[in-house]
Amino acid sequence: MNSNQDGIIVIKIGGAAGVDYSAVCTDAARLIEAGKQVVLVHGGSADATALGEDIGHPPRFVTSPSGFTSRYTDRRTLDIFAMAVNGGLNTRIVEQLRTLGVNAFGMSGLDGGLITAKRKGSIRIVENGKRKMLHDDYTGKIQHVDVSLLQTFLAAGYTPVISPMAVSQDGEALNTDADRMAAMIAAALKAQNLLLLTAVPGLMRSFPDESTLISDLSQRDLKVALEYAEGRMKKKVLGAQEALDGGAQQVIIADGRIEAPISNALSGNGTTIH
Ligand code: ADP
Repeated sequence: MNSNQDGIIVIKIGGAAGVDYSAVCTDAARLIEAGKQVVLVHGGSADATALGEDIGHPPRFVTSPSGFTSRYTDRRTLDIFAMAVNGGLNTRIVEQLRTLGVNAFGMSGLDGGLITAKRKGSIRIVENGKRKMLHDDYTGKIQHVDVSLLQTFLAAGYTPVISPMAVSQDGEALNTDADRMAAMIAAALKAQNLLLLTAVPGLMRSFPDESTLISDLSQRDLKVALEYAEGRMKKKVLGAQEALDGGAQQVIIADGRIEAPISNALSGNGTTIH
């Protein structure tokens, strides 16, 4: 028997252009039909950027002193993020799954207090070589996942589709990183698999040379692997570490642009980390 048959799969669908949402939904529907419990988490950066540009409030991307890039989220940007990602993308994924017969339930981490995060408020950035502080930021670092809430949905036969917003201790909505959110959810659920589906075939030792794709990685090599990752790929490697440390059994970074992307990842195509 396939041991993957028993555990929960948490699937994070990338927010960058190129990932084939309908292929992910079709593949997820097939697994769910076969009795698998699935939790979907999605990004939405491309949608939020496009909406911001359309309505005259384009995003400002900033870099932290340690080299991470993020969206500076003032209140207007937070509202745009919610419109594009909760209102738009989440609804489209839920619709697609429901047309495939899946009992999908869309929510963000704000709903029911599912995901609690600590609001950063002020963030340190580096711009033109100078360090600065930006205030009134609505992003947060995830602190807690209400796992019993998710288990209640799963036990009742719903497939949660979760967009990357969280709630602060004061009840404010916060923008949060979808890879890290998926990782925290996978850890809380002790998921059998966390799939991070993105627009590359997996983690490459020397990006973008696909012949350097790493197919297997052990958890203790993740520190070294972090050095191969550039830009946002770093968040996936950090997320993999968090998920495994927290009790998820396996993480796979794999291609989300292809037919049957979930089955493809589960059959070992991608970077499998255990
Ligand atoms: P998503 O939107 O799917 O969450 P991102 O675009 O934010 O994904 O991050 C994944 C991207 O990271 C890849 O598409 C690739 O361009 C980049 N990347 C950086 N370093 C690496 C690496 N070592 N291996 C693979 N991809 C990498």
